[in-house]
Amino acid sequence: MIGRTRLRAARHPATPPGGGAGGGAGGGAGRGPGQWSGPGGGPGRGPGPGGTPPKPPPAPRRWLLPVAVLVTLLLLVLLAKPSPTGPRYGYTDLLTRVDAGQVQTVDVSDTGGVSGTLKDGTHFTSQIPTALDTSQLSRALSDQHVSVTGSRSSGGSSIWSSLLLFLPLLIFGGLFLWSGRMAARSLGGGLSAIGRSRAKIIEAERPATGFADVAGYEGVKQEVSEVVDFLRSPERYAAAGAKGPRGVIMVGPPGTGKTLLARAVAGEASVPFLSVTGSGFVEMFVGVGASRVRDLFEEARKRAPSIVFIDEIDAVGGRRAGGTRIGGNDEREQTLNQLLSEMDGFDQSTGIVVIAATNRPDALDPALLRPGRFDRQVTVPLPNQAERAAILAVHTRGKTLDPNADLDRIARGTPGFSGADLANLVNEAAINAVRADRATITAADLDAARDRVLLGRRESSNALLPEERHAVAVHESGHALTAALCRHADPVDKVTILPAGVSLGATEQLPEAERHLYSEGYLTDLLTVQLGGRAAELVVFGEGSTGAANDLANATSVATRMVREFGLSPDLGPVGYSSGSPQYLGEHPDDLLRRPYSEQTQRAVDEAVAGLLRGAERRAVALLREHRHHLDELAALLVAQETVDGGVVLDILRHPAPDPGPGRGPDTAA
Ligand code: ADP
Ligand code: ZN
Ligand code: MG
Repeated sequence: MIGRTRLRAARHPATPPGGGAGGGAGGGAGRGPGQWSGPGGGPGRGPGPGGTPPKPPPAPRRWLLPVAVLVTLLLLVLLAKPSPTGPRYGYTDLLTRVDAGQVQTVDVSDTGGVSGTLKDGTHFTSQIPTALDTSQLSRALSDQHVSVTGSRSSGGSSIWSSLLLFLPLLIFGGLFLWSGRMAARSLGGGLSAIGRSRAKIIEAERPATGFADVAGYEGVKQEVSEVVDFLRSPERYAAAGAKGPRGVIMVGPPGTGKTLLARAVAGEASVPFLSVTGSGFVEMFVGVGASRVRDLFEEARKRAPSIVFIDEIDAVGGRRAGGTRIGGNDEREQTLNQLLSEMDGFDQSTGIVVIAATNRPDALDPALLRPGRFDRQVTVPLPNQAERAAILAVHTRGKTLDPNADLDRIARGTPGFSGADLANLVNEAAINAVRADRATITAADLDAARDRVLLGRRESSNALLPEERHAVAVHESGHALTAALCRHADPVDKVTILPAGVSLGATEQLPEAERHLYSEGYLTDLLTVQLGGRAAELVVFGEGSTGAANDLANATSVATRMVREFGLSPDLGPVGYSSGSPQYLGEHPDDLLRRPYSEQTQRAVDEAVAGLLRGAERRAVALLREHRHHLDELAALLVAQETVDGGVVLDILRHPAPDPGPGRGPDTAA
């Protein structure tokens, strides 16, 4: 590929994953040279049960306020009008009725409110205009011998009305206190309750995931199926006096389905699954983590048989501080110690199995790995080609695939992809289909998704200068032609000068089969292909460019490993200074600094590496010079079409050479 360069940019351009000449050249999954660790920044964790986000406020809180308001209003309406029964008469009306002798009794309050009964039994109310002279009414009442009583207007409802006044205040006060308590609880119950377990970190569920949802990994499944067996009938183990598995630790690069497998174990055994993330234990206060561990196991014991799953256990289970750190990390140590003692303490017959996952087994405290604790270590590697195809199949289940979509082909072109990457790829393809208004996923969707995951988002606007476009086309043609001309190189799948992510163009090679072993011939060809881009620039323009930086870095790392690890350099001979730690663990920074050889050897290594690279460049330049007309033809085709298939590259190579003579650019061999 050819990389975008920004001189003077503050940040280094991110190095796209995948080997120089496209993803295919990268090599096998963590086994071969040209090691590449899959797409950088792939999706970290799926929707696993890991870090649980804080729960939204419980449902009652949302409907409580409207209800409170409603109740208040209702009370107001009910109490404010003490249900006036019967008709309400005006003053004049009342006077007329009294004069007419219809009224039997009246009760007059001090504010002039009147309630009374007519002779026919109907109750009525009225109001005397106290501001006026009402002697006429008093006279009429006494004339008609109406029985008159007096009362205090607010006598009965005075408590109610004062209550009513305070009711909203009371309700809001209550709400305030209550929500305060809820907040305190979700924060850990205030300082006093900090150590108490919260439902938030420990969640028991019964996953519906089964082994069928985990594609591939038959060996791993076999190893964990013993756990399933034990959880299904712990009593059988007890009867035979056998100790069941206590702890299983799953080790593997991120996204390989460790969490998925743990859930599948719980699902297969149909037992509760209590999951926590290692970092969930680590708190600011010493002793909190330890008490959480205690709670976790208590909960597990209550629900036994059950599975306790500790994701990212390295957060707690890291090596305890040696003498190097002053003070150490008390909180973590206490948490780890508690975990160790819980694992020792629980009764085997209860049927609790602890499953832990990590991608950094080297960082774990050895005490965790002792028999009786995590005595089973299951490695979950990156999937191989067949497994990748199976994972793709699992994730395309329930989606409509176009018959021309070949999952095996995609699996072939995705070495180093983890299960999570593949899930992401399928999703990208589905999104592509949606964008094109289709319900079926086509081969092109899958290809585009793969490119996108590998190289980054394709840029719709091609902002390259015309001469840059030509330079990119020449560079990529160099990769493609050398790949087609070298016997051991993987076949060219396609060449493109469409910019995507940080790359301006890419040559993709598709290995015929997954390789587990690489011959010297393969590696030499790989170097030649990786330097083919730069060689083409040298042949056509007479000078290199910044675009090859990535190719050079990749080629250098392959060459370095050839010299240092594989004994493939004649100068150094059969010495191998293995880098030791498994690749996916990420190299220790001090491992790179600590060399097991002398300065002189380092010098020899450097020279041997440079020699290999120079040789590869010479070879690529020679090849391209010999096929100069093919190079020009392919570059012109790329400029015109932007993307060219591998078959077309082979076709071009079959074209006969024109008469030698004019049309040659400066020939500057490096
Ligand atoms: P890890 O815990 O190892 O980092 P996860 O278990 O969280 O990885 O896996 C992330 C996602 O990747 C899963 O949710 C699943 O969609 C997908 N995945 C990984 N491995 C597989 C597999 N073997 N089969 C099917 N899907 C897988
Ligand atoms: Zn390149
Ligand atoms: Mg995980």
